[in-house]
Amino acid sequence: MAITKVWIEDGCIVCNACETACPEVFHVTEDTCHIRGEVREDGTDDTNLADKHPLKGDQGASLEDQIIEAAEGCPVEVIKFEKG
Ligand code: SF4
Repeated sequence: MAITKVWIEDGCIVCNACETACPEVFHVTEDTCHIRGEVREDGTDDTNLADKHPLKGDQGASLEDQIIEAAEGCPVEVIKFEKG
């Protein structure tokens, strides 16, 4: 099963660990982390918390290992994802 959706809950401490683990998906800003528009069907660069837009194409399959690594490495566990 591939990852279908990724989002960031409240509480990111902008440590940059996720962007180091998977720069294709995670974009750390001044005050939180965003899911990059380039890998999302809706093309928006934000936390994806409100609407949980799906990843586009095969991104969720090809980047699955890196996304899981990033989520497991987040010190405050705010990276969430769904598989489908
Ligand atoms: S690893 Fe977690 S706390 Fe660190 S920047 Fe990413 S989402 Fe924020």
